[in-house]
Amino acid sequence: MIPHLLYYQLAVFGCLWLFVMLCWAWPSPCLDERPKADPTPPQCKRTDALKAFAGLTHKPPCPLCEQEAATPTPPPPVRPDPMPPTKRRPRAIDTSMHFCPHHGCSYRGWLGLGNLRANGHPSGGPWRQLQCTSCEGYFLATHGTLFHGKRVAVELIVRVLACLAEGLGIRSTARVFEVDPNTVLQWLVEAVQQLRALSRYFLRDLHLTQVQ
Ligand SMILES: [Zn+2]
Repeated sequence: MIPHLLYYQLAVFGCLWLFVMLCWAWPSPCLDERPKADPTPPQCKRTDALKAFAGLTHKPPCPLCEQEAATPTPPPPVRPDPMPPTKRRPRAIDTSMHFCPHHGCSYRGWLGLGNLRANGHPSGGPWRQLQCTSCEGYFLATHGTLFHGKRVAVELIVRVLACLAEGLGIRSTARVFEVDPNTVLQWLVEAVQQLRALSRYFLRDLHLTQVQ
């Protein structure tokens, strides 16, 4: 049997050993003499002031912007004054939807300024001829359209294009209407050009959120 005095002495020594080990192993700001590492940089405080991003201080290169800067857009044309009324008999033909196509004419491209008048049907053709009283130039009413310079009936061209739009092939359409396939292809190409110009004029500056 272990005597009580020896048991108490062992307990005191155990407590002293545990106290010494804790003092040695426990980190203390006063006793820690080891050199410290570099202090961590202070964290940036969040501010509401906006700062420019260093990577976007210069304008990014853009071929379109450079092209526009190299070739500045010309000023828009000035709308000429409407033609004064004349002493001739009132015009029975409506020319408000036509414009003078001649280059160098100040009325070129303008509608409804009273500078056009009908001039009959040259050579008995189906299309009317118009004259510009400003530049004294003549042009047919079909100028700039799909039917300009064609001798076939308008109804034939319309029906051929309608069949193509319905999905019939070029050769099939040519056999149905007894037209050369190259002629049908030429009409199709011209119709595509007209449709492309029409879409480019009307379908622009559209701020759409959904497209079906
Ligand atoms: Zn003209």
